[in-house]
Amino acid sequence: MIDSSLKDIAAALRAKTVSAVELATDSLARIKARDGQINAFVTVDEAGALAAARAADARLAEGSAGPLTGIPLAHKDVFCTEGVLTTCGSKMLANFAAPYDAHVVRLLKQAGAVMVGKTNMDEFAMGSSNESSHFGATRNPWDTTKVPGGSSGGSAAAVAARMVPIATGTDTGGSVRQPAALCGITGIKPTYGTVSRFGMIAYASSLDQGGAFARSAEDCALLLNAMIGLDEKDSTSFLGTSLDEKMREIPNRDLGDLTREISRVPEDPARPLAGLRIGLPREFFAEGMSADVRAAVDAAIAEYRRLGATLVEVSLPNARLAIPAYYVIAPAEASSNLSRFDGVRYGHRAAEYTDLNDMYCKSRAEGFGAEVKRRILVGTYVLSHGYYDAYYIKAQKLRRLIAQDFAAAFAQCDIIAGPTNPTVAYGLGEKTSDPVQMYLGDIYTVAVNLAGLPALSHPAGFGAGGLPVGLQLIGNYFGEARLLNAAHQFQQATDWHTRAPALQDA
Ligand code: GLN
Repeated sequence: MIDSSLKDIAAALRAKTVSAVELATDSLARIKARDGQINAFVTVDEAGALAAARAADARLAEGSAGPLTGIPLAHKDVFCTEGVLTTCGSKMLANFAAPYDAHVVRLLKQAGAVMVGKTNMDEFAMGSSNESSHFGATRNPWDTTKVPGGSSGGSAAAVAARMVPIATGTDTGGSVRQPAALCGITGIKPTYGTVSRFGMIAYASSLDQGGAFARSAEDCALLLNAMIGLDEKDSTSFLGTSLDEKMREIPNRDLGDLTREISRVPEDPARPLAGLRIGLPREFFAEGMSADVRAAVDAAIAEYRRLGATLVEVSLPNARLAIPAYYVIAPAEASSNLSRFDGVRYGHRAAEYTDLNDMYCKSRAEGFGAEVKRRILVGTYVLSHGYYDAYYIKAQKLRRLIAQDFAAAFAQCDIIAGPTNPTVAYGLGEKTSDPVQMYLGDIYTVAVNLAGLPALSHPAGFGAGGLPVGLQLIGNYFGEARLLNAAHQFQQATDWHTRAPALQDA
């Protein structure tokens, strides 16, 4: 039953053909049988899951259940979970049980979703391959010699391997969309400010945004529906008072029900996307995409056209500057955010030291991995006196230009389509020795975060080695319902999203 759509699972729960306890038991059994090969989970909370499932069954019995009540779910280990280990993939937090729930975790508990565990991730969400975790790399369920993508690779692999139907992730520069693409599932990163960052361990606060993984766009919409909303504890929560004048002028800040466009019956069922203008950025198709990804992306775009969409060429002239801008801004914010891990209040503390300064140095040297240290060094450098104007301020200016490019493109189209990743999943260890190669893999995703836009990735076929290819759809601010409906109509007409990797259960 956990392989069915959320709608079907919810209907079965109401018809009492399955119980929440049975679903949780199935999910836990799948994790037992499969996770030895994948390493998607850092923590499995069997007792907590069964208790939550029993509570969900009680709600179902009394008729107070919502669409997610009783559905098994996994949280990326970046979200604080009260009383449950929250490691952020780091030795620094390897023994940290959070004293409170992240806002998202609380909302999903209230919705009655049943958390079965916490998923593996790149350390502090820094990475594109899920190899920088203190708890070992996660492997791609389609080919366990390949990476699942990062940094929410544990969540993506858990959904792809059918261990859970839905999972949460975070996307600072692509960490929901990339692993969704490489693992052959659907993942959405909403408009910056729609999902509260409270209790989501900070990497780069002006870019970090919670997101949703599922097998289909419709299931993503149901999950995201329960995650979004005003939170006074997050000063950039968009329903609150935005500091940015521009954002305050944007009307209709209530995202509403994200399934509303999906539920609407199209006038012409053969052309459900009639009237939708899809922009194809010239720069995305110029070079960089491997031939197999290109073929799948082209075929998916042709399908969108058959569904009634019209295609227009657009330009994002500053897109090539997104990687350098991002890899200045993100480390700058990270170097500041990660200063709180000092061995004093929580986290790893060196066993032996001579004085306070030595304790800081040793604790941080031992607690952080190589990639995190690299980012702290780069971030500290670009923020230092004498380099601030040359790097940090310059990057902020590029950020504005990139956002303006998108604004100009959205004057000509409703959504933008292109690849999510330049290639299909690569081999474990293939890029770990060359960080710049790793960063270049983010070429299609980081600009979206710099602009704060919503974007999703959905399965669009297979490339070299039979590995999944993702198509990326980027929307204008608060355009989630439309984005999800476009992907949903594609998924009504194709079956890529229903394909599952062949895994031998242990
Ligand atoms: N790969 C990017 C980075 O390493 C994005 C990570 C993310 O979105 N969390 O920063």
